[in-house]
Amino acid sequence: MPSNKLKNKDFFSLASWLNLLHFEPPEYTQEPPLPTLLDNKYIQIKRSTRARRLALRVDFKDRVIYLVVPKRTALKKAYAFAHANSDWIDEQLENMPDAIPYEDGAVLPLFGQDTQLDITYDSGLKRTTIALINNQLVIRTNKEDPSGRIERFLRQMAKDKFAALSHEKAGIIGKKVAHVTVRDTKTRWGSCDENGRLSYCWRLIFAPYDAMDYIVAHEVAHLEHLDHSTAFWNVCRDLSDNYVDGYYWIHNNGCELMRYGKAA
Ligand SMILES: [Zn+2]
Repeated sequence: MPSNKLKNKDFFSLASWLNLLHFEPPEYTQEPPLPTLLDNKYIQIKRSTRARRLALRVDFKDRVIYLVVPKRTALKKAYAFAHANSDWIDEQLENMPDAIPYEDGAVLPLFGQDTQLDITYDSGLKRTTIALINNQLVIRTNKEDPSGRIERFLRQMAKDKFAALSHEKAGIIGKKVAHVTVRDTKTRWGSCDENGRLSYCWRLIFAPYDAMDYIVAHEVAHLEHLDHSTAFWNVCRDLSDNYVDGYYWIHNNGCELMRYGKAA
């Protein structure tokens, strides 16, 4: 999609948002609002009561870089800090994977299998139907933007798969899974509590199979060891199809999972 690329380039250019810093606000009859960089969707100011110092944080899920400003720090100082780190900001923006919205023709890797979205809009339809047929996700919809429906479908698919795999792996070590949920977490791919309830980031559906399989093995291994001891890692490795590749993929590329379904 060449037009997308161009658009992103505009947003990514540091010059375009630095210009905003020198933007002269119009005359206000009241106290002017705090100047913000909000016009650039990739940079957002976050006032924090907890932060002790100025910081820049890349948030792959929100697809922005947060300029974190402690409560008592002047915005002028925050802007100077952002200026001083402009090279770093440019580098992060360049490395942020392009968004892949749920559009007709888009390709999503589902459980490691490239799957193309085939979306047909028809205002005469009574409801939206979604079906996975071979390597296509076929969507017939009366909604101009069926993104929400598509995401619900994918979440359910993820939940079914993660639950089935969790039960299967738990069976191998003679443990029981109490409950499986999926969430839209930012960096935590899975969790397991002392009552045997497992939770996964539904976006693991977009990860290569080995990475998803490793996360499930990891959480199921916690049913036996609620720590990260050597004994735990031994169980985790035994329950994984490809422990090494899965582990490294998720640690190095986890942010990739956040790009799907987001606005370009
Ligand atoms: Zn763990």
